[in-house]
Amino acid sequence: MNRDRPAAAAAAAPLIRVEGVHKRFGAHHVLKGVSVDVQAGQVAVILGASGSGKSTLLRMLNRLETHDEGRITVDGIEVGDEPRALERLRAEVGMVFQQFNLFPHLTVLENVMLAPRRVRRLDRPAAETRAKELLERVGLSAHLHKHPFQLSGGQQQRVAIARSLAMQPKVMLFDEPTSALDPEMVKEVLDVMKGLARSGMTMLVVTHEMGFAREVADRVLFIDQGRLAADAPPADFFGAPANERIRLFLGLMA
Ligand code: ADP
Ligand code: MG
Repeated sequence: MNRDRPAAAAAAAPLIRVEGVHKRFGAHHVLKGVSVDVQAGQVAVILGASGSGKSTLLRMLNRLETHDEGRITVDGIEVGDEPRALERLRAEVGMVFQQFNLFPHLTVLENVMLAPRRVRRLDRPAAETRAKELLERVGLSAHLHKHPFQLSGGQQQRVAIARSLAMQPKVMLFDEPTSALDPEMVKEVLDVMKGLARSGMTMLVVTHEMGFAREVADRVLFIDQGRLAADAPPADFFGAPANERIRLFLGLMA
C-alpha cells in the first residue's frame, strides 16, 4: 500500500489515474478515450486482441509513448514532458518487456546495480547489497557473476525483474513478460511475479497467461478496439463474460 502518505489520503487517491486518454498514430486512432484508476497494491491484468492498444496504454504510463488527449497521473505526478516530473516518474515506474534487454557486457550483479548507482547515486556497497537481496528474491543468487548469454531465457527475465525492482518503483508494468520464453520457463517467471503481487506491489500486466489472470489479478481490464470494454474481477470476467466479443476472445485463448 501507499507508503508515504497518511492513510486517509492513500485510500482516496488512486496511484494511477488515466482520464479520457486518446492516442493516434497518424490516421490510426489507437486509443479512443480510455479512463481507468488503479489503487495502490492492486494487480490489474490487461487483456485484448493483438493490436488493440495494450502496449500503447502501458507505455504511456511511463512516457515511452505520448498521449494526444486526456490526462495521466502516477502517484500524483502528471505524465508529460516536464523534465523533473519525467525523472520522478521513471524512477517510480518500472517496466519489464517481452525481450529482456539486459546489458550483454555486464554480469547479472552489475546489471542490477547499474541504475541505482547512476540514477539514485547509491554507493557501490549499498547498491551491491540491494542487488544481491533482489537477486536472491528472484532465485538467482547462484548466478551473480555470470553474463546474460550464460543464462536461460527465464533466468534472464528474472534478472530483468530484479533490475527494475532495484530502483524501488511504486508501480511495475509488465508487457507480455513470458511471451518470448520456452514453455518450461514460463512458470518460474510467473512465480516471481506472484510473489511480487503478494508483497503488495502495484502491477499492470499484459499477458496471455489466463491462469495468472485468474489467480493473481484483482481486476481484468479488457481492451477492445482502443476502448476499455470490461473492468471486472477475474471470477466475473471469466465466469460470466459480459459480451460476445469477450466470449470470442476467451475462446481463441483457450
Ligand atoms: P497490442 O499491444 O494490444 O498488440 P499496440 O498497443 O502495440 O497493440 O498497438 C496498437 C496499434 O497501434 C497497432 O495497430 C499498432 O500497429 C499501432 N502502433 C503501435 N505503435 C505504433 C507506432 N510507434 N507507430 C505506428 N503505429 C503504431
Ligand atoms: Mg503489445
